[in-house]
Amino acid sequence: MSIVYERVALIGLGLIASSMAHAMRRAGLVGEIVGYSRSKETRDTAREIGLCDRVEESAAAAVEDADLVVLCVPVGAMEAVTLEIAPALKSGATVSDVGSTKRAVIEAVRPHLPEGVHFVPAHPLAGTEQSGPTSGFAELFDNRWCLMTPVEGTAPDAIARLTALWTGLGSNVEEMDPDHHDLVLAVTSHAPHLIAYTMVGVADDLRRVTDSEVVKYSAAGFRDFTRIAASDPTMWRDVFLTNKEATLEILGRFTEELFALQRAIRTGDGEHLHDYFTRTRAIRRGIIEAGQDTDAPDFGRGGHG
Ligand code: NAP
Repeated sequence: MSIVYERVALIGLGLIASSMAHAMRRAGLVGEIVGYSRSKETRDTAREIGLCDRVEESAAAAVEDADLVVLCVPVGAMEAVTLEIAPALKSGATVSDVGSTKRAVIEAVRPHLPEGVHFVPAHPLAGTEQSGPTSGFAELFDNRWCLMTPVEGTAPDAIARLTALWTGLGSNVEEMDPDHHDLVLAVTSHAPHLIAYTMVGVADDLRRVTDSEVVKYSAAGFRDFTRIAASDPTMWRDVFLTNKEATLEILGRFTEELFALQRAIRTGDGEHLHDYFTRTRAIRRGIIEAGQDTDAPDFGRGGHG
């Protein structure tokens, strides 16, 4: 595959950035990978493992002369990082991100970018509960979606180039309206994470009562929840703070359904329960058939990191 960008700067060197670096190398898609992370510890680790060709001491130095800059920090940090890099961006460069919510990132980044710099927000729908520069692996994006949410007036060339990069990283790329993205993700990712956090919190409270039986006899359902609930607290705090409306809308619907199921249990309405579980089982089958998960009860994340 030929070079898509001569120089790519990764700002933030956690799970997603390090996976991008490995996948870019695997595909031979970029000339040079330059990295920056705010902590010395992360920068040193990145240097030790040779994650990038160069790790710089400031975000501004990292983006100098870069053709593509990818913001790989928590959504709540996007604005501050953009302010740091904006004066150093090369004219004609593309700025992108990998944030899990899109409207908030657009509002945080776009107003601060200089004229002549393209902005193409993106979100790879791939992850694990691990974080940091050593958690990445080249296969993370294989056969996963990468959703792009370009705003009106973005140069088609800039979108096409970033699409070529993500396709080369193994993803299937699709464009989506940012608000629609946030609603879809509230259903498929954000609300489920909150539910997992809650269930594990409830079990933790119980544990104090049952003296660690919850851990000792932990069954598959609960174990899967704990894996999700082990995800990075900063990242997920920012997701909920920046996708408030869509998440609250979905949680409202969730609560209504939960009450209906609760009533069915109380009144002994087995038919309601059986019908409901039959419907949900079919959805699971559809996801496996679409190649978005395996039959293993590990949220498709097993064996990595
Ligand atoms: P991660 O492994 O936790 O790494 C986070 C990176 O951001 C680190 O380099 C960290 O720097 C830096 N950072 C944290 N807080 C910062 C702040 N206040 N200012 C500047 N830099 C800061 O995170 P990740 O999983 O790669 O997530 C990065 C982005 O990808 C997030 O926007 C997230 O929503 C999105 N995303 C995540 C997943 C997933 O499943 N993990 C999937 C898709 C998209 P130091 O290490 O130097 O402190």
